[in-house]
Amino acid sequence: MLIDTHCHIDQFSSPEDVVCECENSKLRVVAVTNLPSHFAVAADRLRGHKFVSAALGMHPLFAPDGIRELAAFKRMAPQSDFIGEVGLDFSRQGIASKAIQERVFEEVLCVVRDRPRFITLHSRGAEAAVLDGLRRHGIKAAVFHWFSGTGKVLEDIFAEGHFVSINPTMLTSPSGQRVIAKSPRERILVESDGPFTKLHDQVCRPTSVAIVYQNLASRWNISNDRVVACIKSNFDSILGRVALTSPR
Ligand SMILES: [Zn+2]
Repeated sequence: MLIDTHCHIDQFSSPEDVVCECENSKLRVVAVTNLPSHFAVAADRLRGHKFVSAALGMHPLFAPDGIRELAAFKRMAPQSDFIGEVGLDFSRQGIASKAIQERVFEEVLCVVRDRPRFITLHSRGAEAAVLDGLRRHGIKAAVFHWFSGTGKVLEDIFAEGHFVSINPTMLTSPSGQRVIAKSPRERILVESDGPFTKLHDQVCRPTSVAIVYQNLASRWNISNDRVVACIKSNFDSILGRVALTSPR
């Protein structure tokens, strides 16, 4: 079973087709959202689906809108085992809303710290600040999606028990390759980040994660089946924590 731990299914032109594709091929997907109002729609549409789970999100670049949805985030969080996309973005694109983002992310962390969940994080240009937030709130085993920070922060991420998720675009970029080379096998997950990534000029879909699995197999010089087992074991190790305390 292949696993895509970060895909924006609701941002595709026909999300239903993508969901069908995943369910038919038994591809496990964490369908992230950018705002609680988007999560409400996704969770409703995905009810009864076995392989695709909606994640409650509050994307940092949506923080100026997100601040109005904080109450909704708090209301929906108790029933959400999957959280994302959440985090901070201090890149050129996000720096103007830094103060609002910090306020929103702090609230998000206060809400999700109550029990273990699967959390997928955005941290562009703010990697150390995101890690610091997790540390201050005692949040363990979170996933840094498309990490592009320094080697030092990456070391700290692993030392503190967190994970990274690797997407097809990272396979060919120098910074992505550095991250893959420095990541222990037991801390790696795989993502498509579709439709915001491309592979050979084609928009990535959840099925595009296959190329990441193949790349890891040749890099580690092991069979594709062993990579599949490794990634599943990493994913299950986080879900095992979630299942222990999840309200059902
Ligand atoms: Zn994303």
